[in-house]
Amino acid sequence: MRSLLAPVLLLAATACIPRAAPPGPATPPPPVGLPVAPPPPQIVPADMFKLHGRPEQGALVEGTAPIGTALLLLDGKPVRFATDGRFIIGFDRDSGPAALIEARMQDGRLLRLPLTVAPHAWDISELPTLQRGTTPSPTYQRIRAEELRQIEGARAVNADSDGWRQRFRWPAYGRISTLFGSQRIYAGGQRGAYHGGLDIAKAVGAKDITGTPALSPADGVIVLATDRPFSLEGNLVMIDHGFGLVSAMMHLQRIQVRTGDRIRQGQPVGTIGMTGRATGPHLHWGMTWNGVRIDPMSLVGQMPGGGTP
Ligand SMILES: [Zn+2]
Repeated sequence: MRSLLAPVLLLAATACIPRAAPPGPATPPPPVGLPVAPPPPQIVPADMFKLHGRPEQGALVEGTAPIGTALLLLDGKPVRFATDGRFIIGFDRDSGPAALIEARMQDGRLLRLPLTVAPHAWDISELPTLQRGTTPSPTYQRIRAEELRQIEGARAVNADSDGWRQRFRWPAYGRISTLFGSQRIYAGGQRGAYHGGLDIAKAVGAKDITGTPALSPADGVIVLATDRPFSLEGNLVMIDHGFGLVSAMMHLQRIQVRTGDRIRQGQPVGTIGMTGRATGPHLHWGMTWNGVRIDPMSLVGQMPGGGTP
């Protein structure tokens, strides 16, 4: 009798042994039918996103999203990332000092990387005796609206290109006559619009820059090659390098590409001139990332040989 009962008691005892408690406070299972609360956001070290370049006003920064990222966000807005995790983000010329990168992981975790955006000392010149320009005429406003529509349309193309992954090159060499971000303050403290690109003009002692080829700084797709000079930009070529990164080459003397062309890094898009609003021959190189204007110098560094204004 005793020998039969013992195994039964042992089985009952085994079934009663509680499992090891999970670490942390015990949470009751969620009621059936209700969604499970997501885990709290987790602040992660910077190397989780492998950022290249310093977050700074007007700069473009490259990074790699952690493996398992389902959704990448910059300040709450989705950012495109490639299958290898690579992405680019741009900071506005007047960006505030804080930004936030977040990766929503496939397992539901939310990884956060708070960033400090360094300020940049922009070139501001006070011209207290100069009046700001006059109000444009209705005819000009009508023409301008159509030009802006074409520019916006080109930015919205989102061409398929891997140019954004390349190390960018200078489209021309010379003297930087106006820096990105520079701004004039006119009579009465009125602020003019800031300069949205880099101006490359003739180097001291060099021959006229007119007719010099303007080269594509990276691979891309031509999303706009204007058929006539625009009021401000003159003959304008816009190159989409992919992932929201677009170059604009302005004031060209001649255009040598057509909308829809694929272009390689270093291939000419046209020749430098002074069409549109320009006081002398120069190449204006503007860059935008998803419409945010960025300083081309953050991609190419200093002009070889100085090139200071
Ligand atoms: Zn310019």
